[in-house]
Amino acid sequence: MPRRFCALCGRVTNDLYRGLCAECYLSQHPLAVVAREPSLTLCRSCLAYLRRGRWHYPRAGRELEGVLEGALNALRDALRPSSEAVLVSVEPAASLSTASQLVSRGRAEVPVVVRGRISPSSSVVHEQVLHLRVEVKWALCPACRRVRGRVERAILQVRVYGRLMSEGEKKRVMEVIAKEAERLYDRDREAVILESDLSEGVDVYLSSKRVARALAAAVQRRFGGRVLETQKVVGVDGSGRVSTKSTVRVLLPPFRTGDVIVREGRAMVVREVRGNRYRALPLDSCSVETLPLSEAFSGRVRVVSPSEVERASVLSVSRGYVQLMSMRNYRVYEVRAEVVPSWVRVGGEVGVLRLGEKVYFVPLN
Ligand SMILES: [Zn+2]
Ligand SMILES: [Zn+2]
Repeated sequence: MPRRFCALCGRVTNDLYRGLCAECYLSQHPLAVVAREPSLTLCRSCLAYLRRGRWHYPRAGRELEGVLEGALNALRDALRPSSEAVLVSVEPAASLSTASQLVSRGRAEVPVVVRGRISPSSSVVHEQVLHLRVEVKWALCPACRRVRGRVERAILQVRVYGRLMSEGEKKRVMEVIAKEAERLYDRDREAVILESDLSEGVDVYLSSKRVARALAAAVQRRFGGRVLETQKVVGVDGSGRVSTKSTVRVLLPPFRTGDVIVREGRAMVVREVRGNRYRALPLDSCSVETLPLSEAFSGRVRVVSPSEVERASVLSVSRGYVQLMSMRNYRVYEVRAEVVPSWVRVGGEVGVLRLGEKVYFVPLN
C-alpha cells in the first residue's frame, strides 16, 4: 500500500479528504457554517422570546430559563451543515449565566459543540467547537405592548342584584380578581389590571377579553351569580377590521352565606351559595333545601335586613310558648311558635323575626 500524506501538514495517514487529513480539512471546511447571525428577540418587559413568528412566554420567576431556551434555539437555528457534511448533533454550551449575560449586556459568546461526518460516505464522526456570538434584539411582545399602551379592550363589571355593593363585598371581590389575575399572568401576559374603579361596584379595565372572561368565571365560582357579555364596536383599524370592546358583567345574588331571606313567605337562612345553586335552611324546619340561584334574580327572594331582627333574651320556654325580653327596650313579651329550635334556651340570646302572624327564631352570630 502506498504511503499517503496530508498535503497541508505532511502527516502520514490513509484517512484523507481531498488530499487533507481530517484536522486540516476541518480547519478549512468546518462541519457547520453560520447561515445567519444568531440573534435573539426578547420582550424588554416580560423577557418572552420570539421564534419563527411566535412568542414564547417564560413562567413567572423562571425568566432566565426562558431566555436560555431562546438562546439555545437561536444558536441551533443559526447553523447549517456545510456543503457535504452530515451533522449528528449541535450542542451550544450555554447556561443560565449566559442567559443573564444576554439580559444585562445584550450579547454573549457561546462555544457550540458540533458533531458530524465530513461527508455522507464517511463513517467517522468528528467533533468541532465553533464560537458564536448571540445578539439580543429588544422588542415588546404584543401582550406587553397592549398593556403598556393601556389599550383597553374589556371591562369586567361586578354588581349585586337589586342593591348597592357594600365596601366589604367590593374588597372581597377585588381580592379574588387580583389573586386570579396573578395566577393567570403565568401563562397570559395580559392578565394585568390596567385600572379599577370601586365607586359603584367593581369595575376592572383590561387589555384582553379573554382575561376578562377568565376573571369573571373566577368571581362566579367563588360568589355564584350570572355572567353576561356585551360588545360594542369602538372603531375600524387600518386594515378595515372592526375593533370591539367587551363588557363582561357578573351579577351577584343579593344574599350570601349567613343571610336570612324570605322565600314564598317563609324565612330561611342561607347556608351556601355556589355556581348556579344555593342551599338554605327554613327557620321552621331542620332540612336544608337546595334551590336554583336564578330565583335570586327574579325578585322571588327578599333579603331580611338586620334591623328587622330583634335581639331578645330568652326568659322561659314551655310547650310552644317562649317568654322573651327585648334587648332594644327591655319589654317582656311572650310569643307562640310552632317550632322552637333546640338552640333556643333559657338565658340565651336569640333573634326574633316577625312575618305577619308568624314568629321565627334566628340564630345570632
Ligand atoms: Zn493535515
Ligand atoms: Zn412581553
